Amino acid sequence: MRIDQILRERRPVFSFEFFPPRTDEGQRQLEETIAVLRDDRPDFVSVTYGAGGSTRERTVEVTKWMKQDLGIEAMAHLSCVGEPVSRLREILDELQAAGIENILALRGDPPRGESEWRPHPQGLRYSVELIRLITSNYDFCVGAACFPEVHPEAESLEEDLRYARQKVEAGASFLITQLFFDNALYFDFVDEARAHGIDVPIIPGIMPITNYKQIKTITGMCGASIPRSLERELRARADDPDSVLELGVAYATLQCSDLLARGAPGIHFYTLNRSTATRAILAALRAAHPWTRAGSVV
Ligand code: FAD
Repeated sequence: MRIDQILRERRPVFSFEFFPPRTDEGQRQLEETIAVLRDDRPDFVSVTYGAGGSTRERTVEVTKWMKQDLGIEAMAHLSCVGEPVSRLREILDELQAAGIENILALRGDPPRGESEWRPHPQGLRYSVELIRLITSNYDFCVGAACFPEVHPEAESLEEDLRYARQKVEAGASFLITQLFFDNALYFDFVDEARAHGIDVPIIPGIMPITNYKQIKTITGMCGASIPRSLERELRARADDPDSVLELGVAYATLQCSDLLARGAPGIHFYTLNRSTATRAILAALRAAHPWTRAGSVV
């Protein structure tokens, strides 16, 4: 089922993001995670696209496995990194043949070890070009990324929103945000996006913190900020992994509850291929159903 249709028919929409494992052990862990999270009936799952090497092929494989073998609605991420247009078309053909209906179209980040993003000589420079390639040649439902704290390479919010609007005009029918830990960032961003004529659902992307060192690395890479008060609590527990996990689950539950109570269309969970935190948060949300208190739908 297309995600634009899911978003028209159901609210809130819960989705889980996974990455294709690099090793047999990683594959085993992903299978375990999916076996558990499947019971939580996600509206869709998504599979990230690696910056290089064999994980690229694995994206198509894992997305097909989830959709065809497990019967879970699945979205493949696709990025422009390191691919000529001809290869992008091959991947799109393969996804179409496999019955995949949803694609998250991205520019991608530079491969590990490279600081500057450079397009492939026969490739695409911006995600909007990938969206145009898809919508002019295929019948996928397309989503795109957006950045409540402004994309690190953008000169201003204004400029970033101009390009986000271009993505929507090119055919992106929903946006998923970069992770954030302060809901004011999301709601301010949605207000600005609406003022700039972006009228599609903007799904907040939430990463439950499960490991202090890991979240510092991830936020350092993607430019998301951790509020000082949360940082203080995390630092105090840095040597106690269970305590970090408990705090991470509690914090993300509060965050999701507030987002849904104030009208967010759903939650996209960055699961990092683990089930414990996402499960607990989702169970609490479904028990408390904060969306019944929702005001305007954003
Ligand atoms: P773009 O939309 O191309 O924007 C990149 C930069 O260029 C921005 O600064 C933007 O303001 C600017 N820009 C955009 N259009 C133009 C234009 N026409 N002219 C001039 N400047 C322009 N990365 C992966 O490698 N694999 C994944 O699977 C993946 N999944 C993600 C999922 C989500 C929900 C999110 C939020 C991010 C994901 N990323 C992934 C990371 C993403 O690829 C990076 O954040 C990347 O740096 C930006 O991608 P984009 O699609 O927003 O790029």
